[in-house]
Amino acid sequence: MKINPSPPIEWRFSQRAQQLQSSFIREILKITQRPEIISFAGGLPSPATFPVEKMQAAFDKVLANNGKVALQYGPTDGYLPLRQWIADSLSIEGSTISPEQILMTSGSQQALDLLGKVLIDEGSRVLVETPSYLGALQAFSVYRPQFASVDTDDEGLVPDSVTPLADGARLLYALPNFQNPTGRSLSVARRLELVETCARHGLPLIEDDPYGALSYNGAPSPKMLNMNPDGVIYMGSFSKVLTPGIRLGYVVAPLPLARRLELAKQAADLHTSQLTQMVVHEVVKDGFLEQHIPSIRQLYGDQCQAMLAALETHFPAGVSWTRPQGGMFIWVTLPQHIDAMQLLDEAIANKVAFVPGAPFYANTPETNTLRLSFVTVPPERIREGVAILGRLIKAKM
Ligand code: PMP
Repeated sequence: MKINPSPPIEWRFSQRAQQLQSSFIREILKITQRPEIISFAGGLPSPATFPVEKMQAAFDKVLANNGKVALQYGPTDGYLPLRQWIADSLSIEGSTISPEQILMTSGSQQALDLLGKVLIDEGSRVLVETPSYLGALQAFSVYRPQFASVDTDDEGLVPDSVTPLADGARLLYALPNFQNPTGRSLSVARRLELVETCARHGLPLIEDDPYGALSYNGAPSPKMLNMNPDGVIYMGSFSKVLTPGIRLGYVVAPLPLARRLELAKQAADLHTSQLTQMVVHEVVKDGFLEQHIPSIRQLYGDQCQAMLAALETHFPAGVSWTRPQGGMFIWVTLPQHIDAMQLLDEAIANKVAFVPGAPFYANTPETNTLRLSFVTVPPERIREGVAILGRLIKAKM
């Protein structure tokens, strides 16, 4: 049964919804998923690293032994044994993290949205790196902040540049390990300086860390969280160390903020899948990640080396790039007059794709920059794709 046709609805979207923009990356991913394209555009982890059998065994075990609990609604803050496991793995001598500080989220992307919801009012000053993670800019934008760009150099965020912007700002969003999009990491000295500066100004510091475990030489960097658990909000994710399809991340926050985030989460989706959390706990509880992560580091490290060597061979003088020690991305700076957006059109016509740098800037973009991901492309295709890009760039010099 259906009513008679009425005039179509004239949708009046909220101002917030009018603010929503499609992520440029998700748009170009649609093009670049075509198999004939050599795509350095994706931010996707390599599916070769997904532990499918381990996950399958864990799903079977959880459903067989604890199916009624796994399939029921769960608590908003998350599955306690997994939160306890995370708390233990983040605690170091002199800095104990408690499960009460941890909220499980549907990917760490949801943590960005919830943080925006509880910390940002319209016009609030929000400090971000230059450039920064596009997905965070997109998540925060909904709450209509005033973004202030903090300086970065070859060693990442410059702590000194925070001071003039800090008073009255709501938060600083930082990516200390193998940053998306540049692949840069902050030195220990800069981390300490940054944590101290933020503490001095009472400025909440968000440490977004999905790539920290993917250091090619295996050496972990100290977390800013442990340097000041009362002022640092830490975000972690299982996307890059297990699989992104399970959509499981978490945020660690000082208790008053953790409780607010929990309320916001309750309103958003009640809780993150209990089944998923129990399965991930089953997978990680006996140390699986310690055997598994080295194989991801090896693969990504080898492919990073292949790309760096190809860049050295094929890119002309006048082009520079980062040399990451971990993670998934290399950041390229072209001569000032070359627009990476135009280069992308030509590259796609030649069956190669990358992400232009401009969307990663909260304010004035540097249009001569671009991001290359090497993790899903085998070395011979990396060489082939970089050679094509090198040829297109040389033609513009
Ligand atoms: N933060 C950063 C820096 C990222 O690169 C990503 C994913 N690309 C996320 C957060 C979100 O990841 P997820 O929701 O899969 O945990």
